[in-house]
Amino acid sequence: MKTKRVFIGIFGRRNNGKSSLVNALAGQDVAIVSDVAGTTTDPVRKSMEIFGIGPVVLVDTAGIDDVGELGRQRVRKSIEALKTVDAAILVLTHNVFDEPEQEIIRQFKTYEVPFVIVHNKSDEEPMSNTLKSELGKWSVPIVECASNTKKGIDELITALVKTVPESAHQPDTLVGDLIADGDEVCLVMPQDGEAPEGRLILPQVQVIRDLLDNHAIAVAVQPEELENYLSTRKPKLIITDSQVFAAVSKIVPAEVPLTSFSIILSRAKGNFELFLKGTSAIGNLRDGDHILMMESCTHVSSCEDIGRHKIPTLLQKVTGKRLQFDFVAALEPLPEHLENYALAIQCGGCMVTKKQLRNRVAQLSDQGIPVTNYGMTIAYLTGIFARVTEMF
Ligand code: SF4
Repeated sequence: MKTKRVFIGIFGRRNNGKSSLVNALAGQDVAIVSDVAGTTTDPVRKSMEIFGIGPVVLVDTAGIDDVGELGRQRVRKSIEALKTVDAAILVLTHNVFDEPEQEIIRQFKTYEVPFVIVHNKSDEEPMSNTLKSELGKWSVPIVECASNTKKGIDELITALVKTVPESAHQPDTLVGDLIADGDEVCLVMPQDGEAPEGRLILPQVQVIRDLLDNHAIAVAVQPEELENYLSTRKPKLIITDSQVFAAVSKIVPAEVPLTSFSIILSRAKGNFELFLKGTSAIGNLRDGDHILMMESCTHVSSCEDIGRHKIPTLLQKVTGKRLQFDFVAALEPLPEHLENYALAIQCGGCMVTKKQLRNRVAQLSDQGIPVTNYGMTIAYLTGIFARVTEMF
């Protein structure tokens, strides 16, 4: 099976050589390197291979000590990036270890990001024994580097190999645990006016790829062909676009397991149980309640119609409540006052990693806001919630 790309974030003060460290690891000019403090603003991502780790994305972030309103926004973006990485490098120089460094370590701990500490520019000033013993309390690898001369880079790579957790490499199987080699799985994929021209949407592509990886037989039909197909075949499982749940559930015999692409994705991303629980909050909605719709597309949304129109319309129609909807896309920061929301509804999240989605959803669940997803919401509203979730 294919290995997953590992995300490694690089954090530290302005002008302490983070960007040249990225370049030393990547072996090329990726980030802008300058002696002027604060050259990196938005996180800069670079894909590369590191021997011993495999494919990685290095995420170079702005300085954690940035000042002013713009500076605070940059620090906020760096913290957002921190929530999405599998491991991190905290870069220090000139034996400076103070509040910004302690705060970023607190964030590593909160978001369970394993990290390595690098004392960079050691050719200018080596690390003192006092700092060494202070950092010892974190029990993490500490490496002395001079990134401009690549001194210490091999030691850093060795430390990263030990630090990146095994789980960061493991591909998320979508259906591998539900089927055996040779099983036939039917995918119901409407290609209507809302479907993108000339291609399939990513959740469908990912499920097909996963079925092939697991040596299953993938059969794709549009809803119109489903009845005819089922007259001669009995698939092990049917996965449908949740938009056609109502029609499909009437056709599929009760003994054939049925679910949707977004419910399958919620299992792989590790939010299934939380969404399962959160769905019941639909029954408690009241007039005027605010709902947060979260779609994780990193560019043009492939599920815009379902998230922006179909679910809001269906939700109000079935509950009979007048509801207010807010929308957030990709990994943009969530609204400040999450306590204002009665419910959040997340898309399948096919374009983001497990960790990115988990940390995003945790910001709501930590405040007691119920969260569900597109597929479970439609299933609940069409009265087939138990049927499409009971097999898990
Ligand atoms: S990230 Fe979400 S909205 Fe975008 S294609 Fe995937 S499931 Fe749909």
